[in-house]
Amino acid sequence: MENNSAEKVHVLIIGSGPAGYTAAIYAARANMKPVLYQGIQPGGQLTITTEVENYPGYADGVQGPEMMIHFEKQAARMGADIRYGLATKVDFSQQPYKVWIDDEKLIEADAVIICTGASAKWLGLPSEQRLNGFGVSACAVCDGFFFKGKEVAIVGAGDTAAEEALYLSKLCTTVHMIVRRDTMRASKVMQERVLNTVNIKIYWNSETDEILGEHKTEAVRIKNTKTGEKVEVPISGFFVAIGHQPNSDIFKGWIDMDETGYIKTIPGTSKTNVEGVFAAGDVQDKNYRQAVTAAGSGCMAALDAERYLSAKGLV
Ligand code: NDP
Repeated sequence: MENNSAEKVHVLIIGSGPAGYTAAIYAARANMKPVLYQGIQPGGQLTITTEVENYPGYADGVQGPEMMIHFEKQAARMGADIRYGLATKVDFSQQPYKVWIDDEKLIEADAVIICTGASAKWLGLPSEQRLNGFGVSACAVCDGFFFKGKEVAIVGAGDTAAEEALYLSKLCTTVHMIVRRDTMRASKVMQERVLNTVNIKIYWNSETDEILGEHKTEAVRIKNTKTGEKVEVPISGFFVAIGHQPNSDIFKGWIDMDETGYIKTIPGTSKTNVEGVFAAGDVQDKNYRQAVTAAGSGCMAALDAERYLSAKGLV
């Protein structure tokens, strides 16, 4: 039930991945007293990966969940007010902006930083869920290195799948690419690169029947949907690259987005079409999607918010 007595905050940060926590660190250090709501998956997508080797500063690598605990602790140490709760509704029609948490608590904020991220789409197979983190991954750039010199499979046929297949082809002996139609959605230039790479083997008109392995990924059973024929291919890694879904539903109608739901920001800034509402991280980035780029954009959002609030005389 909604409670209409509002809590007033200067800066509200929605989301707790690298973008959200970095925005919180910067906003807290600038004395903007940020309140951050973590959402249903505190720490975001990194909490479902294993080792992170490409985040600068961790010379020996770090486990994704552990890294996100470091982010949270750092934000808390700077004075950010970090809370568990999910933003469920907003009203950006006038200042201060209204955001409801868990459908009941109302927050009124002078500035809002949206860092709600994106979620990888999955095939929905039980074996995919069971082996997630044990050879199954939705990010080749994050996890491909662990399969150096091994055989892997990738499912999808868009630009992400093409880009990731090419990335994997430089590390792995063979990349088995499972494409559900007889054509690829990826741009022509990416398709050509994939088709001209000798160690990418494409399975057209094919779907993933099952990922096999008890405690780690050992093989994939691929089914040709035209002939019904099934083949078992030994692999160590299985990459799902069938797209991402930005977590932007509650902002629809308030914030400008592209046709797939990614929030539009003014290039080179974190500003959205609503003055005082900023966006950072994967919810506004379908291209790079890295922890370090998300963190960088979280920093930008906090700086943009600070400039906005001080120009308004609110901090
Ligand atoms: P897309 O939505 O473009 O492609 C998803 C792919 O996955 C499609 O080939 C689709 O098949 C396939 N797919 C979807 N669901 C399933 C399923 N259940 N089983 C099997 N296959 C499935 O997502 P991307 O992440 O590739 O790209 C998102 C956007 O980002 C695009 O606009 C893309 O151009 C852009 N992008 C640009 C890059 C660049 O410019 N360097 C790099 C990466 C992304 P089908 O074709 O049959 O629908």
